Amino acid sequence: MLLEQRTLSQAELARATGLSTATISNIVKALCARGMATTRPTTSSGRRAVAVSLLDSPDVAVGIDFGRSHVRLVLASPGNKLKAERFAPLPVGHLAADSIASAAVLLEEALAESGISRSRVIGAGVGIPGPIDHKTGTVIRGAILPEWVGVNIVSQLEHALAMPVLVDNDANLGALAQITWGDHRSAKDLVFLKIGSGIGAGLILNGAPYYGHTGITGEIGHSTIYDQGLVCRCGNRGCLETVASTAVMIDLLSRGEPTPLTVPGIIDRANSGDAATLRVIDDAGMAVGKAVANVANMINPEIIVVGGPLAALGEVLLAPIRRGLVRHAVPAIGHGTAVVMSSLGDRAEALGALSLALGQNPDWQR
Ligand SMILES: [Zn+2]
Repeated sequence: MLLEQRTLSQAELARATGLSTATISNIVKALCARGMATTRPTTSSGRRAVAVSLLDSPDVAVGIDFGRSHVRLVLASPGNKLKAERFAPLPVGHLAADSIASAAVLLEEALAESGISRSRVIGAGVGIPGPIDHKTGTVIRGAILPEWVGVNIVSQLEHALAMPVLVDNDANLGALAQITWGDHRSAKDLVFLKIGSGIGAGLILNGAPYYGHTGITGEIGHSTIYDQGLVCRCGNRGCLETVASTAVMIDLLSRGEPTPLTVPGIIDRANSGDAATLRVIDDAGMAVGKAVANVANMINPEIIVVGGPLAALGEVLLAPIRRGLVRHAVPAIGHGTAVVMSSLGDRAEALGALSLALGQNPDWQR
């Protein structure tokens, strides 16, 4: 509450959080003792009150996002003040140990660049493009990084970074970022769709990320679109990923080309009106809309936010997703659910990881 409002009275904090005034008083004392908050006497409706203000904390947290071919690291203090950001490409098929070592190097660079001492770092949040078993902390089968399956990612990261680490699926973190860093802080029910080499969804239900029974949620990339479609890496046929992932778009559009197209290449061709590119994007968008229609019918989200490297396509990608949603969802949901691009760009997952480390996930238990 203080991160949002900066200053509130103890009574207001008790009302807003549902905690007792005694509990609030203890928490405020602890924050003041750590130099994170300050209090002053004030009046409220003519009665004496204590105003609590958040101070700029010297503490920082780290957010790390591992992708199929990159690692991104952000450093921020409570209150979402970004201090540093680093990015490094990784070879496709990278091994967990090598990539974790790269992240450790980026962390040292970011600390040096921002002049922040290591002792001020409270911990790291880390996003992985695949399902994580929240009970064991391991990457499980189905990840876009098959080389990482079975690795106990939490213990390896804690060893390499020498700090407490929380790990989550990148789409869940993209969703968390929308309500902590993005334009949708008041959204109670939100779907974040990450369309990249894989396709995943992160769900915000009742204002908090939804983790299901074991943490494997939002596997929308493996919704069946065509019964007789291409065989998917999961072993089924015709999954959404075999129609709408960037890897499949690149395959379809690179036939007869001397070198494979890239994602920026797809965006350039779409912007110049290339018919084949626009058709591939349209088919992909319609398929995403069909898959997300089933999710929307089930949970009735306020908004669907699209992220991932195709965000620059804007309406070219959003329009077919909306058409697919309207065609396949209950009419009131198809027409009543907003579909927008994430304003956080490629940073959404890393920023969500930061929020995890800053303790901004109201439902997090590990
Ligand atoms: Zn599949």
